[in-house]
Amino acid sequence: MTKFVTLSSGSSGNCTFIDHRGVKILVDAGFSGKKIEGLMEMVGEKAHELDAIFLTHEHNDHIQGAGVLSKRYDIPIFANAGTWKGFLKKAKKLKDENIKVFKTNEFLNFRSMDILPIGIHHDSNEPVAYVFYLDNKKITILSDTGLVDEKMAYEIKGSDIYYMEANHDLEALKMGPYPHKLKLRVMGTRGHLSNDQAAEALADALVGKEEKVFLSHLSETNNTPELSRLTVDNYLTQMGLDTKKDIQLEVCERYRPSKIVEL
Ligand SMILES: [Zn+2]
Ligand SMILES: [Zn+2]
Repeated sequence: MTKFVTLSSGSSGNCTFIDHRGVKILVDAGFSGKKIEGLMEMVGEKAHELDAIFLTHEHNDHIQGAGVLSKRYDIPIFANAGTWKGFLKKAKKLKDENIKVFKTNEFLNFRSMDILPIGIHHDSNEPVAYVFYLDNKKITILSDTGLVDEKMAYEIKGSDIYYMEANHDLEALKMGPYPHKLKLRVMGTRGHLSNDQAAEALADALVGKEEKVFLSHLSETNNTPELSRLTVDNYLTQMGLDTKKDIQLEVCERYRPSKIVEL
């Protein structure tokens, strides 16, 4: 059995929990350790039972509580060399044996999980998306990228769950209060996916086998849950998917866990 739940997601913090046959992990830990423990309790889980934390990149909204949890409960952290380089500047005194380094674009195995970290396009050291192969199920966690290239599109196809960044509405970003430089950063090829880009990537990946889609990492300034859902829903409908029947579309919550999925 697999349990999947996004504990919280937004541009201010991200943390997702997966349990596959009793192997419990977090993907990113972008809140304080205490906050993550509280979020886990809300979905009936305990932080001391975590087996590992996987990091996508070293930005604070993805790593904030990782070091604290690792030290408090002796949890190994998995990341590539680039992410470690950035993360170790902020996380001090980790146990050597809890520093696990993997190579981007190479499969790794963690107990019952086969995991492919895919290189993505973002202004951090060596950011990755993750594709989890869990028995005959597949979960994609894709966030913080300026674009979805062909290799990424190929690797994520056929997943049962998609955690997909839908950071901003492009018009809202352009018209909004961000300084010009920051606008260019967010909409750049090493920035964040817009609602439209998320919709296009999903339209390419989905086959209509009742996949669960979680729109994630929404900007508080340049997006709303309603706008994000509507944009993606409209596009997928135009592309011939029945968004009431073929797929389940959800928007991640910013301050509390989203719907729990069991596969
Ligand atoms: Zn980032
Ligand atoms: Zn982020």
